[in-house]
Amino acid sequence: MSNVKIRPLYEFNMKKSKRIKKDEKVLKNFISIYCRENHLKQGIEVYKNGYCKECYGLLQYALKKNENCPFDPKPQCKHCKVHCYSKEMRQKIRKVMKFSGIYLIKHGRIDLILHYFL
Ligand SMILES: [Zn+2]
Repeated sequence: MSNVKIRPLYEFNMKKSKRIKKDEKVLKNFISIYCRENHLKQGIEVYKNGYCKECYGLLQYALKKNENCPFDPKPQCKHCKVHCYSKEMRQKIRKVMKFSGIYLIKHGRIDLILHYFL
């Protein structure tokens, strides 16, 4: 237990992986709010980890894109010139972000938004 070694590669990627982790948390949170309010409460079945099938797919897609982003630091997607999302996925994720952003503000969780975006 005492000799936990961190691989050099990991160390090298520390900054990037930290960013990925943070974005991952935001994506999970926002998609899960959206899914719960728009799908699960409407009776759509849970597929995996508390997401319906569609949202779970969207999350996996977004996480992959996030991880593969060639920019460091990663720009905000809306300001990025390489639109790596497909048109369909881009529309979906924008809808999710907008809905959950508004949801958090309405429910007095502006602290979460600030926490995520500042
Ligand atoms: Zn859903």
